Amino acid sequence: MVGDVPVGAHAPISVQSMTVTRTADVDGTLQQVYELAMAGADIVRCTCNEVEAAEGLARIVPRSPVPIVADIHHQYRMALAALEAGVHCLRLNPGNIRKPEHIRAVASEARDRSVPIRIGVNGGSLHPDLYRKHGDRVTPEAMVESALTEIGYFAEVGFDLIKISVKASSVPLMIDAYRQLAEATDHPLHLGVTEAGPPPAGLIKSTAGIATLLAEGIGDTIRYSLTADPVAEARAGRQLLESMGLRERRNVDLIACPSCGRAEIDVVAVAEEAMAAFADREIPLQVAVMGCVVNGPGEARDADLGIAAGRGRGHLFVRGRNAAVVAEDEMVDALVEWAELIHTDGPEAALSRVDTEKAEREANRDRERLLTDQGDDVNDTSIRIESIRRRTS
Ligand code: SF4
Repeated sequence: MVGDVPVGAHAPISVQSMTVTRTADVDGTLQQVYELAMAGADIVRCTCNEVEAAEGLARIVPRSPVPIVADIHHQYRMALAALEAGVHCLRLNPGNIRKPEHIRAVASEARDRSVPIRIGVNGGSLHPDLYRKHGDRVTPEAMVESALTEIGYFAEVGFDLIKISVKASSVPLMIDAYRQLAEATDHPLHLGVTEAGPPPAGLIKSTAGIATLLAEGIGDTIRYSLTADPVAEARAGRQLLESMGLRERRNVDLIACPSCGRAEIDVVAVAEEAMAAFADREIPLQVAVMGCVVNGPGEARDADLGIAAGRGRGHLFVRGRNAAVVAEDEMVDALVEWAELIHTDGPEAALSRVDTEKAEREANRDRERLLTDQGDDVNDTSIRIESIRRRTS
């Protein structure tokens, strides 16, 4: 348990993020903790790098909506101070706190207080002895050895409330290290690609590493380490777990067609507008934005709710059934209104209030007109295929 969040075994995978405020700034840090929790973080880490930070943690922990992990850098006394402050978990980097007596002192205190510790091995700050031993390189074996050595120190004082991470900025390296670690121990693992950088590259790297391991059944908590507002980290972590079916959907899952020659609207702009409109609403529905009424409702028939453009109008549909027609510039407003209605009352109740047959007639009319105007091969596919055949015959 990290506070009231279960970690490991069959517990849901949890999302972590980290504040970027000075921990001594209690109000600023708490505000960020709340923002992270709202965005999907189950656990939040704060740095504890000075006495003022530890004192700040004593004020932050009782008021935090989620468990707090104290990040300890080089001073083991800061770990003892953070425990005194009442934190729910510590993170120790074996590359930074190296003296066995210091490690044992922290583990003893954590044992007496039943506070877990994450052993946070980091490829960039590996213990110099291990670095040399493994050929002056950061290898998966060296990272795993670092974690197992730390577990050994903990075992000497009878402490085993352990979570482990072996992060690296190289995706293949971290994947290898975690695979080896999962073979070597049953302790819960915290996944991440460290220093992944700014989005979108940072998002892609993190997802590549974390999702690969999660798909193999490895990992119990995750963090996106982005060079960005930490709210983006928390949101990305949550979205990854929801998209992999590892956590229940909490926010809108917005899908949109890629657009093509048939599109009646700027699909990218409308999808982005919809993303922004749904950003802070906790509505666990799949919502579709489709560029045309010719194919959109059919392609997105499994969505809970969707809208497709046609001749200056938006055709709103609920689980494939036409529900309403709205002006093109009201498409996003209509999606939000209907999403809230469905979320509150359910799709059948929402549909019972409207004339679905009329909505279907209107959609069919726009579909027929578009087909008449554009034909059924708006992307000139048959002409291209004919041309290919001519050139290759
Ligand atoms: S056919 Fe319509 S729904 Fe499909 S990609 Fe093109 S615009 Fe979007």
